[in-house]
Amino acid sequence: MTIRSLTQPKTEQIDMAFRVARKLFFDPSQSAMVRQVLKQRSADPFVAVVDAPMNDMVAYTTLWGKVIYMDGDALRGRPHTFHNVLVHEILHTQGKEHDQTQIPGSMMSYAVTKNIQGEIIDDATFL
Ligand SMILES: [Zn+2]
Repeated sequence: MTIRSLTQPKTEQIDMAFRVARKLFFDPSQSAMVRQVLKQRSADPFVAVVDAPMNDMVAYTTLWGKVIYMDGDALRGRPHTFHNVLVHEILHTQGKEHDQTQIPGSMMSYAVTKNIQGEIIDDATFL
């Protein structure tokens, strides 16, 4: 925020703050999905899912398995992919590691699909 923006009318300041907040936090549909999937997958109650902009990754789980970081902005408008990434990361918190054999359909060999421009494509289904 610049000094000049502090002199803007209050409604513009509120609008700007809202736009910044939307970029920084999961949108309401993403937050609702996080709560729903944590419950469905019987995640440890101390698992926290944090919205975090990242470079060249969409999500990861800390080695000690309690914190999942997901790039909510990169996954916005891609509810199937958001869900599928989240399920994969929750499984990491439950001790699952990547399948080395790339078993078709396995959540532990799941990867997001990107188009030729490198943009994430929404999956067709909830896995
Ligand atoms: Zn993984």
